Amino acid sequence: MDFDDTPEEAAWRARVRAFLEEHRDDLGRRSGPRTSDDRVARERQALLYDGGLVGVTWPVEAGGQGGTPMQQAIVDQEMARADVPGPINLIGIGMCGPTVIHHGSEDQRSRYLRRLLRADDLWCQLFSEPASGSDLAALRTRAVQAEDGSWRVTGQKVWTTLAHLADYGILLTRTDPDVAKHRGLTMFVVDMRAPGVTVRPLRQMSGGADFNEVFFDDVVIPDSERLGDVGDGWRVALTTLMSERLSLGGGGTEIGPGAAAVVRHVAARLPDLSPDRQALARQRLGRAYVDSLAIRYTGYRQLSKISKGELPGPEASAGKLAGTRVALDLADLAVRVLGDDAAYAATADGVRTWQDLQAVLPGMAIAGGTDEVLRNIIGERVLGLPPEPRADKGMTFRESLAAAGASAEERR
Ligand SMILES: Cc1cc2nc3c(=O)[nH]c(=O)nc-3n(C[C@H](O)[C@H](O)[C@H](O)COP(=O)(O)OP(=O)(O)OC[C@H]3O[C@@H](n4cnc5c(N)ncnc54)[C@H](O)[C@@H]3O)c2cc1C
Repeated sequence: MDFDDTPEEAAWRARVRAFLEEHRDDLGRRSGPRTSDDRVARERQALLYDGGLVGVTWPVEAGGQGGTPMQQAIVDQEMARADVPGPINLIGIGMCGPTVIHHGSEDQRSRYLRRLLRADDLWCQLFSEPASGSDLAALRTRAVQAEDGSWRVTGQKVWTTLAHLADYGILLTRTDPDVAKHRGLTMFVVDMRAPGVTVRPLRQMSGGADFNEVFFDDVVIPDSERLGDVGDGWRVALTTLMSERLSLGGGGTEIGPGAAAVVRHVAARLPDLSPDRQALARQRLGRAYVDSLAIRYTGYRQLSKISKGELPGPEASAGKLAGTRVALDLADLAVRVLGDDAAYAATADGVRTWQDLQAVLPGMAIAGGTDEVLRNIIGERVLGLPPEPRADKGMTFRESLAAAGASAEERR
């Protein structure tokens, strides 16, 4: 990969930088407190969209810019440099939109995509359930087709980011329990305001409430809101999950604003530290620097694959795994080296406090594939280790529930 901008990329970078400078005051600060008003966040995203900085790689017919992955990476880099927060509709842009682009009907694409990019509508991803997270294909939310062709959905989702604000969601359901678990799934777009949808926020240890439990009680979804064929939901979900891994580990060329702020902070305080703390801090900053370079180059490797039209491989899993470790290491460093002092100084900088980082970062090691699951992927696909034993191989979903001791009610 050529690390220098081509003349076209340099021109794009200059354009992006000029736009961000011009609208600096209206776009908020990434390092400052997050706005709790979603209307403000929606307006900021609309401003970015109108400036051509949202949906850079999306096709023009889908409301995007028809640009290259490199142009998107440049936007990410320039937004980080200008301390501009990312769009609020992150799940919509990173996961739901690409799924609608690939599997939605013409009508769905024209109704939903442009509005999603401008944050006129917010979206959420309704996949995880109390008994299915890593083993997503074991989900139980049922969709049954009525005589008029519409679907009736009953079940529960959990950890649904942004559901409390979302207008629409992509919903993975079980439509046939009598085939193997991956084969009986179907995906829909669901109107989050439809009768029978109940959203309950979950309070996190960080004090925020970004996640929710979502209950579906006989919710009616028209057949025209299906994404892909009946029973083809797993293939549709793979589009979502691939896009998710790309958007979490894929931009992958930076270590994240929270971690970068910790580095700046610890580095600035080095001269004031006792010699033993200084030695520890230097050693750990050095390791974080080397790791972050490895993350950056892995991210570039992936970017060049995507630029050539190839599908990304397990680099995205490796990038996410390593990025999480560096961020956690740095938050830990701030606590160990600076102690209580870190809390005050970081607050004074307007940066998230280390307590905040400690409470938020562990979620990174779970969202979008846990560290253990990513290690399994690397073990199987990179190192060629034997695959994990799959206890429910060759069973229908209903049989696997029975084998796991589920009650007759649960198996219905
Ligand atoms: C910040 C955040 C945002 C999220 N947003 C959403 C969202 O918007 N929509 C959504 O649908 N979900 C969302 N989730 C849920 C997320 O996808 C799940 O939490 C994740 O898939 C793990 O599932 P689980 O919580 O059920 O844990 P489990 O899968 O039950 O895992 C429990 C533990 O067992 C380990 N484990 C499981 N399987 C294996 C295995 N095969 N080998 C080794 N170890 C294993 C795991 O690593 C973990 O440590 C979010 C989660 C977080 C933290």
